[in-house]
Amino acid sequence: MTPLPDRYCPVDGVRIPGDSLAWCCPSCHGPLELDFSPTPAPLKSLTGRVNSLWRYAETLPLASPSVSLGEGRTPLVPLTDTVSAKLDFLMPTLSFKDRGAVLLAELARRIGPRRVVADSSGNAGTAIAAYCARAGLACTVYVPLGTSAKKLEQIEAHGARAEEVDGGREAAGAAARRAADEPDTFYASHVFNPYFLHGTKTYVHELWEDMGGRLPDVLVLPVGNGTLLLGAALAVAELYGAGLLDKRPALWAVQAAAVAPLAEAWERGADEPTGTTPVAPTYAEGIAIPRPPRARQILRAVRDSGGTFLTVTEDRIRHAQADLASRGLYVEATAAVCWAAVREGALAGRSAVVPLCGAGLKSGLAR
Ligand SMILES: [Zn+2]
Repeated sequence: MTPLPDRYCPVDGVRIPGDSLAWCCPSCHGPLELDFSPTPAPLKSLTGRVNSLWRYAETLPLASPSVSLGEGRTPLVPLTDTVSAKLDFLMPTLSFKDRGAVLLAELARRIGPRRVVADSSGNAGTAIAAYCARAGLACTVYVPLGTSAKKLEQIEAHGARAEEVDGGREAAGAAARRAADEPDTFYASHVFNPYFLHGTKTYVHELWEDMGGRLPDVLVLPVGNGTLLLGAALAVAELYGAGLLDKRPALWAVQAAAVAPLAEAWERGADEPTGTTPVAPTYAEGIAIPRPPRARQILRAVRDSGGTFLTVTEDRIRHAQADLASRGLYVEATAAVCWAAVREGALAGRSAVVPLCGAGLKSGLAR
């Protein structure tokens, strides 16, 4: 078995061995990166490979997972002449989070902790619970009090424990981190653990393959904790660095206007949010993150790509969700934010792909 790459802190350079249960930098407590710079396989050599994200084996830090549920290879469907949707809600647990969760569960299986803990407002928690079930790992998911009964039911159906925490999404995160500091515990954090990003990046490897070795002018991406956007940036760097991509796409990051700390920092030309941006309730619960730990990284990735930030109002989210449903695509409100941001002409003719990240059945129609 190939050894696990080291992780390191991008701020102060502290290194952590690959099989360590440490989940953040022991010095500054920030998120870690993976010391891993793979070279993707050329387009032609992908023919005939397994029909899941594991076909991009050269780019993944883990091999031959026994925990795969066939995730990845989601369809690309045109919405207009120049904008297509990638149907990432067609995943084993009905959201794009499976791309990262399968990597975290396979990593946990290799390390072999007593239990796995995670925190989530929904989709990441259900994905982690499903893949831990597949891996035979005991799992506890900390969720905010008031999380929808459907999501709790899905988590518990997989044999995981759902712990409801009073005090909102951030309190659930704090409870998970306290549990993560107990001995022999693996913190399956979709925010702090870089393996998650090396899973979400397969979104772009698939696009590149489906478009015959190219990418659109613009990748429109929903941003809360930025896990899909940072994964996309990783994949673009890998493909471009290997000479497999002529032109890099611009990354357009979309936030709900109600919770837009990153868009606000972008407007000010700042490197990071103030941490005090006011927030309001939003239909886009999956990206309602007031203080994203990887904020600096997200802002830098968008800037380096020549991209921008867009915000969408609650009305536009609601209308975009209904519009997608009227075209046969029933997705959750969070999954409609990218279409909400570009459907009225913001792209000015540029080609683009929007992800439809989560199924409508998870939270219903916004009203
Ligand atoms: Zn550090």
